[in-house]
Amino acid sequence: MAPNPLLINNSGWRRLSVGVIGGGIGGMSVAIALRRAGHDVTIYEKSDFAGEVGASVSCAANGTRWLHEWGVDVAKGDPVVLKKLINRDWKTGEPVSVYDLDDYEKRWGYVYNMFHRQYMHAMLKDSALGEDGEGQPARLIVNHRCRDIDLATNTITFENGAVSQHDLIVGADGIGSAVRGIIGIRPEKKPSDSSCLHANVDTEEAVRLGLVDYSQDSALEYWGGQEGKWDKIVLSPCNGGKLLSYYCFFPGRKGIIRRRPGGRRHLAIGKEIQPWRLWVHEPYPYLQQGSICLLGDAGHPMMPHQSQGACMAIEDAAALGILFDKKYFNGDVAQSLAVYEEVRLPRVTRVQAAAAKAAYNINERIGFSFNKDIPTYKVEDTKKVLTIEEMNAYDMYKDVEEKLAAKRGISYTDKYICGLPVGLELPSGITIGA
Ligand SMILES: Cc1cc2nc3c(=O)[nH]c(=O)nc-3n(C[C@H](O)[C@H](O)[C@H](O)COP(=O)(O)OP(=O)(O)OC[C@H]3O[C@@H](n4cnc5c(N)ncnc54)[C@H](O)[C@@H]3O)c2cc1C
Repeated sequence: MAPNPLLINNSGWRRLSVGVIGGGIGGMSVAIALRRAGHDVTIYEKSDFAGEVGASVSCAANGTRWLHEWGVDVAKGDPVVLKKLINRDWKTGEPVSVYDLDDYEKRWGYVYNMFHRQYMHAMLKDSALGEDGEGQPARLIVNHRCRDIDLATNTITFENGAVSQHDLIVGADGIGSAVRGIIGIRPEKKPSDSSCLHANVDTEEAVRLGLVDYSQDSALEYWGGQEGKWDKIVLSPCNGGKLLSYYCFFPGRKGIIRRRPGGRRHLAIGKEIQPWRLWVHEPYPYLQQGSICLLGDAGHPMMPHQSQGACMAIEDAAALGILFDKKYFNGDVAQSLAVYEEVRLPRVTRVQAAAAKAAYNINERIGFSFNKDIPTYKVEDTKKVLTIEEMNAYDMYKDVEEKLAAKRGISYTDKYICGLPVGLELPSGITIGA
């Protein structure tokens, strides 16, 4: 993508020493993006990654595009490429709303991947730390839990007594972020009205027992969600279809799934069953302060019902990669982080709100939000639903350039508003720029 020549201002570019706190999906992604931008990156992770939970994690085109741009070896993640989103009736299992993804790659240039978390993490880690690829490999230091940061000197103190100092610090330390509190954000949050249990099923075992081979659908499948109730079972195949990852949502206080639908015989052979506590966070007022910024769940935890948490962390990483690139970074860290916040906060807040709505109404989920003709279709406001177009037609370079231009007092003339092309018609009836 050719940058706006007026915005190329790299006379002050310098290699930054970057400390990334948290080595999860977002931490690894930002390490890739910033090493490629020419910086010296160290990741500090509190754990040693032992005992990670096996579960699926989806990566729609808006996340997948960056994996390709960064040269990540996506095959290492052994993904299932999704072909459909299927919503089934809670009692009968019959499809109620189906969103076909057959032309998805043709429309958006990238596929909708379903990864296994550990495979996805290993894939990103290899790209962040490996000798291959642009820039200097990042370093990973495990068993370093961030305790505090001196905001005046950018010095991180770890619980093991170690200290380190960096020009730029990225808080990628997940939903329970320490960095968030250190820069003064006190989350307004409440426990969700729904809870979740996750279970894994081996496809081979299910087939051996004569059960339905759901891996054949290559689909993200949902039972329930139309009834305005919390009960919902979500099934996603990963590991090339060898593993079926089930998320069972139910009303928070009940503690059980009330009437189990179609997938129940699968769940009877589910293993590695884990509770997943869900919290609803109000959007945070800011994402950065001085030379410190938040990324991923640390900056915008969201309910899982749009399957966009990992994609939003990847997009955050991509935004930092662009802003600190040799083309755009003029040496002013605070200015780049201010633009980072302006680019990211509106978009993640919109997805966060849509994820909370989709928790009790599947018609609010990207994809299903398009299927207005089904008899039970009902949304809070048809003009406000989140659509696939907004997610995938988004051009982050344009968004960064628009906001950087404003910050630097340069006029911006490209026909884009917040990264979306003027004239784009959304299925919600909104036309960008109209
Ligand atoms: C079961 C489950 C299923 C999900 N499914 C999907 C899905 O299908 N699609 C999707 O898009 N999203 C999904 N998500 C959400 C997605 O996984 C998260 O949004 C994403 O992982 C965010 O990445 P992150 O790097 O911000 O946080 P994490 O991946 O949680 O990483 C945070 C890291 O920081 C480390 N850390 C924490 N505190 C400290 C500290 N003080 N010092 C140093 N290190 C620290 C942690 O050990 C961890 O490694 C799912 C989440 C879960 C739990």
